[in-house]
Amino acid sequence: MKNNEIPAYAGIKNYINGEFINPESNQWIDNYNPSNGEVYGQIPNSSKEDVEQAFQSAKSAFPSWSQTTLEERSRILIKISELLEANLDRFAEAESKDNGKPVSLAKMVDIPRAASNFRFFGNAITQFASESHESVGQNAVNYTLRQPIGVVGCISPWNLPLYLFTWKIAPAIAAGNCVVAKPSEVTPMTAYLLGEICSEAGLPKGVLNIVHGLGTTTGQAIVEHPNIKAISFTGGTATGAHIAKVAAPMFKKLSLELGGKNPNIIFADCDYDDMLNTTVRSSFANQGQICLCGSRIFVEETIYEKFKADFVEKVKSLKVGHPSEIDTNIGALVSKPHLEKVKSYIKIAKEEGATILCGGNEVTVEGYENGYYLQPTVIEVKTDDCRVNQEEIFGPVVTIMPFKTEDDVLEMANKVKYGLSATLWTNNLKRTMRMSNQLQAGIVWVNTWMMRDLRTPFGGVKASGVGREGGFEALRFFTEAKNVCIKY
Ligand code: NDP
Repeated sequence: MKNNEIPAYAGIKNYINGEFINPESNQWIDNYNPSNGEVYGQIPNSSKEDVEQAFQSAKSAFPSWSQTTLEERSRILIKISELLEANLDRFAEAESKDNGKPVSLAKMVDIPRAASNFRFFGNAITQFASESHESVGQNAVNYTLRQPIGVVGCISPWNLPLYLFTWKIAPAIAAGNCVVAKPSEVTPMTAYLLGEICSEAGLPKGVLNIVHGLGTTTGQAIVEHPNIKAISFTGGTATGAHIAKVAAPMFKKLSLELGGKNPNIIFADCDYDDMLNTTVRSSFANQGQICLCGSRIFVEETIYEKFKADFVEKVKSLKVGHPSEIDTNIGALVSKPHLEKVKSYIKIAKEEGATILCGGNEVTVEGYENGYYLQPTVIEVKTDDCRVNQEEIFGPVVTIMPFKTEDDVLEMANKVKYGLSATLWTNNLKRTMRMSNQLQAGIVWVNTWMMRDLRTPFGGVKASGVGREGGFEALRFFTEAKNVCIKY
């Protein structure tokens, strides 16, 4: 593949045993371009039979791949990373076309991060040491083997398509597993292109198998498969609960990264300009469709009116436009049903007596009148327990309200069913320590947002998920620990 070569749309196929093949049933699903509302291709509507074929391919590849040296696995993962970097433009264009996100964002964040995922786990696997313990006085020594699980399933959502798909696949194969993976049916394109890259990098046939299709059929078939022994899932909380129910009787290992409704807590003593600029980003990056977006903004009352005026002014200046235009800040939402869902919450806010400070309406972009565009929307809520402040909206919509004391804001921050991330803006060290300890979240950012070091654990508490990904946590998830005790 050459860089800058954007493929004429040829039709997406499943990637099984290193080959691109049609689904057995020859059934297809339309794929929409969110920027103009047009169907621009079709993807396989894969059935149980396709998942079985993918499983058999993975099963056949496992004995050899699980015995491949760490250096060789590492070399291949790093090669995949290099090929992704070499094809940055092609992947970014495809991601933007599929998802509606600004191409500039895909170029700066999504695709580089997908490359980093492969590079990081390619390196991490060579450093993943097992433990040993001498049982003193008992003439025995214990050591722990970290063995790959076998065939594992990876299921990812549409909001950060390649970024999250590879966040699962890279550690899974680095650890010696073979994978059956399904991207979201709404954003299949970069997962499809990844197959080509993996073959080019020399990943043996069958180590990675990608099946496209609906969550309720293809995804469900992966979860129901009795010999796919672990599932790494990122998506909505309701889907996660359903997957847990299906998987539990088969004692599958589960990693569930689910929804969020994250507080962004702003104290008067913060670095104001930095906070303001970052808060615009943490509210509306990727059209607000990031599980980590700070969708509930709480501001200390002494600076509330100033913040409100400054924030609204900045939000109004964001450009909603076609994803391919370089000055676009807010692209299209991912799909028509999702646009309708987000709009329904703006209606709910009005019914609940909240004030729409800016936005709230669809945007018509000239030349792309059927695209799914929405103004970035700021809602001032009177109380923290209204629906728009409690339920995940997952669009360019944030709520704001003032608070009086640290105790008050802590209580409101924790009073949601979710617990993925929290952001805190303050220069008070003692408060930082107190609040970081007490916030119910898997990740707390202080004076920054979405800064990620791939060695750190990633995941949520409460309805935001079970388990941790990232760094060695991911490699632990994708391996079984076996203790060997030798008496001498
Ligand atoms: P969904 O839960 O609808 O879908 C996620 C994935 O699961 C998709 O590939 C989907 O397929 C598939 N799926 C759906 N039903 C089933 C099923 N019964 N069995 C197996 N797989 C199934 O989430 P969205 O794609 O709408 O993503 C948005 C959600 O993801 C938000 O709630 C967001 O907060 C969360 N998210 C969480 C993150 C985290 O790290 N905690 C990060 C990013 C997003 P299909 O799309 O084809 O239906």
